[in-house]
Amino acid sequence: MTGEIVACTWSNDRANAHTAAPELITAARALAAPVRWLAVNPPHDAAATAETYGAAALDRLSDAALLRASPDALVEAIAQHAAARAPRLLLVPQTFDARLVAPRVAHRLGAGVVMNAIAIAEDGGVRVTASAYGGDTRAVYALGDRTGVIAVMPGAVEATAAPSPSPVHTADVTADLSGAGERVRVLEPARSEGARLEDADVIVAGGRGLGSAANFRLVEELAGALGGMAAASRPIVDDGWVDSSRQIGLTGKVVRPSLYVAVGVSGASQHMAGCSAARTIVAVNRDRDAAIFRHARFGIVGDCVEIVPELIRAAREA
Ligand SMILES: Cc1cc2nc3c(=O)[nH]c(=O)nc-3n(C[C@H](O)[C@H](O)[C@H](O)COP(=O)(O)OP(=O)(O)OC[C@H]3O[C@@H](n4cnc5c(N)ncnc54)[C@H](O)[C@@H]3O)c2cc1C
Repeated sequence: MTGEIVACTWSNDRANAHTAAPELITAARALAAPVRWLAVNPPHDAAATAETYGAAALDRLSDAALLRASPDALVEAIAQHAAARAPRLLLVPQTFDARLVAPRVAHRLGAGVVMNAIAIAEDGGVRVTASAYGGDTRAVYALGDRTGVIAVMPGAVEATAAPSPSPVHTADVTADLSGAGERVRVLEPARSEGARLEDADVIVAGGRGLGSAANFRLVEELAGALGGMAAASRPIVDDGWVDSSRQIGLTGKVVRPSLYVAVGVSGASQHMAGCSAARTIVAVNRDRDAAIFRHARFGIVGDCVEIVPELIRAAREA
């Protein structure tokens, strides 16, 4: 095993995980180890990103078989690269794909794996703090001598440019994917039309406290007035008030807008797993002891059906 840390990101027809590269490279740099970035189907500006954030090496892996979302091929490609490089740590972004890929890569390498990591530190060995039980608690893992595969949560690390950019050793690498089976096939990719919640700077999310499907229009109107997007907690998705593409949380989207307005949302840990990285959370809830107020910077205690129209009016006048 080398002392190197490999940060790995990818893109395919379903996802672009390269946006997490600055955070992963920053996290690796903080451990004072040489950083190599493996970019699968790399973005055109990969070399500039590597230089800005301080990766010493960039391995670009382009393969037509990896352009289509295929966890099996991705596992094969990453595992082959890791077997050749034998890094101390392999960092991947905690995404939907990572859930399908990271544990299998770790198994192939005989490595340990930690998902949902929120901090990585050197303390006589590598210690990884991870969110556990749907965000209800935190677990600290002490990694031993074997390679560790770590899936890092979005927003866990603030990407910072390297103090002095240094030259990046860039190489085009290949993987032999002829033996990659296809045990998981996406028959019908999820349709996403228009703007993505993950990219929204302002999100207004509605929960069961709205009282009825019809009241979800209040959430949409407030989102519109603030120039943002409307989202939802799981129960109102399950009840068919809103499409599942709007769901925030552990089993929904993970977002990190500048402003997250939670309307009639209790603040259950499974919901907060999707929005706790928001810079500012504002909550409207009629229960002053609701858990959401522990996360909110600003809170309004009251009936959302009365309060939200006032917020819409104020936002439109601003
Ligand atoms: C494995 C698992 C995965 C899950 N994944 C997710 C997930 O991805 N996303 C998710 O959201 N949940 C998820 N959940 C469900 C989660 O545990 C909560 O049940 C859910 O988030 C609660 O949604 P809610 O806050 O809208 O509803 P509730 O818990 O019913 O809360 C409604 C809130 O509205 C307030 N309220 C009521 N009336 C009004 C009013 N008139 N005005 C203002 N406030 C009012 C109440 O005080 C309350 O705080 C998951 C659960 C499990 C077990």
